[in-house]
Amino acid sequence: MSENITYESIAKCDSEIYQLIQSEVERQKSVLNMIPSENYVSKAILEATGSLLTNKYAEGYPRKRYYQGMANVDEIETIAIERAKKLFGAEHANVQPYSGSPANAAIYYALLKPGDKIMGMRLDMGGHLTHGHTVNFSAKFYKSYPYVVDKETGMLNMDEIRKLAIKEKPKLIISGYTAYPRTIPFKEFHEIALEVGAYSMADISHIAGLIVGGAHPSPLPFTDVVMTTTHKTLRGPRGALILCKKEDRLANVEGLDEKQAKREKNLALKIDRAVFPGLQGGPHQHVIAAKAIAFSEAMKPEFKEYAHQIVKNAKVLAETLMDNGIKLVTGGTDNHLILIDLTPIEIGIGKQVAVALENAGIVTNMNTIPYDPSTPFKPSGLRIGTPVLTTRGMKEEEMKIIGEWISQIINDYENEELQKKIKQEVKELCEKFKFY
Ligand SMILES: *Cc1c(COP(=O)(O)O)cnc(C)c1O
Repeated sequence: MSENITYESIAKCDSEIYQLIQSEVERQKSVLNMIPSENYVSKAILEATGSLLTNKYAEGYPRKRYYQGMANVDEIETIAIERAKKLFGAEHANVQPYSGSPANAAIYYALLKPGDKIMGMRLDMGGHLTHGHTVNFSAKFYKSYPYVVDKETGMLNMDEIRKLAIKEKPKLIISGYTAYPRTIPFKEFHEIALEVGAYSMADISHIAGLIVGGAHPSPLPFTDVVMTTTHKTLRGPRGALILCKKEDRLANVEGLDEKQAKREKNLALKIDRAVFPGLQGGPHQHVIAAKAIAFSEAMKPEFKEYAHQIVKNAKVLAETLMDNGIKLVTGGTDNHLILIDLTPIEIGIGKQVAVALENAGIVTNMNTIPYDPSTPFKPSGLRIGTPVLTTRGMKEEEMKIIGEWISQIINDYENEELQKKIKQEVKELCEKFKFY
């Protein structure tokens, strides 16, 4: 058991759930968590999300609510908004989105009409479901014209993306991905948007922590709308944040009176009204308090160090894997994640390798690789990342050891003896690093 986290009240009232939470505490403590979209938040953030702010209804925005009893939550939400603006250098912030997918839905709802064209990266190339995948609302309500990465390099090809944008004339161009290990040229995306008369949107869910820590270029202040989840590299609670410019540069004010035109040009208002009342009901004030804490943690100098260490760790890990003959998509990484191409070993073994690694205490996820010769249910890739290991205090030295373990398992993924042996070594390594 971890002495710093106790759940006494749960233990008394619900032993079944208590046991499972305790097992999860043990699991998170004793494995190498290498899922790049996860992180381990501070105790302060755990406390805020477990606080009695969960009891409060607060539909509306600070000082424009529908209920009484708002003194404290109005203050908290205002602080969260001001910190978000300062942290990212944004003109406007909305801290209410429940999570990344509803935040993206709110942005589209604010900027687009049903049937408008959107352009994001295709899911199997590293895009997100909400960027226009066929099974998702984003391709049912809007027309999706996805772009791809270059077949040879695995990288974004901005000339091809520009050509597609000129041909299709989308209303919205989305950058930001879930499995792209390289730097994203946000400025170039925005310039293409300007050229074709589209809004630019950056979904920085994966890399927000790197951006505020100065380890990846920022899409602010030029991008029209920026969305991020707060629970990935940013290391806050599960939730999301929308940042945008005050003015809608594509507003069509033809035939509107002065008052209507003013509203039409107010991008910040459009985003706020899309989140509430457009899409959501009462905001989760306990999570908003935790977001405020996360923003403040991310302003500290330690967080800059953290962000840079995430990238250093990923680079050393990538080198170690490649030294062991493992193939990486794009041949390396600039950020927190690595996409391993398993096809030289066998096509479609992402799942088997992920299970073999979990048996050895190394938690990752299977992933498609660009132009995967197999299917999404049987992909040929493995996605790994360093945000959690870096939170726990691991550095280059540990990355070399972990890179060797991962290589051994990939190269011999049916060897259960090897998995057992490494699992023990993983446990011993984890015991040396901080955990709550
Ligand atoms: C994680 C992620 C999302 C969705 O966030 P949820 O909170 O899981 O809904 C959206 N876009 C990108 C790029 C992401 O990485």
